[in-house]
This record gives sequence, C-alpha cells and structure tokens, in this order.
Amino acid sequence: MAARKTNRLSPKTCKQIADLVSDYLNGTLSSRVKRDFDTHLSRCPDCVAFLNTYRETVTATNAIRAEAMPGAVRRNFLAFLHKRARGKRAST
Ligand SMILES: [Zn+2]
Repeated sequence: MAARKTNRLSPKTCKQIADLVSDYLNGTLSSRVKRDFDTHLSRCPDCVAFLNTYRETVTATNAIRAEAMPGAVRRNFLAFLHKRARGKRAST
C-alpha cells in the first residue's frame, strides 16, 4: 500500500499535528492516525520540535491533558508556521 510516494508532507498538516499532539502523547490515537502522525514527524522537523516542546511542557506541569496544556505553546507554534510560510514566499 506504499505505492504512492510524493514529496509533499503527509495528508496531515502541521496544524492537524498540533491538534493531535496531546492525543499522541496520551497514546489515544488510532493506529492509522498515529502512522500518519509519525510519517509527518519523519518529514517535518518543525513538528518534531513542537512535539518535544509540548512533551517538556506537559512533563513540567505533570499533566498530559489538552486542558492543562498552555494554549500559548500551540499558538506560538502555529504563529511560527505562519511566519515561516510567509518568509518562504518572500524569499523566493
Ligand atoms: Zn509539520
């Protein structure tokens, strides 16, 4: 089933990854979603960095819950993605 190979990121977008991170760390993702998630991570260092930041934060707060997660971390990440996308466009 690995027939189609493209240079694009997996169907999951960075924003979706950000939404799924807490479930990922909770281990509540379905295996299919988790595979998409892992695939995205393998191609997207930014999301790996985000995951690490997220994990450190939840470890620090000792609560792996979306509600306990400072929304600021996610917002920062999304803002970063936004800025990066803009910068890319501007520099090329
Ligand atoms: Zn990503």
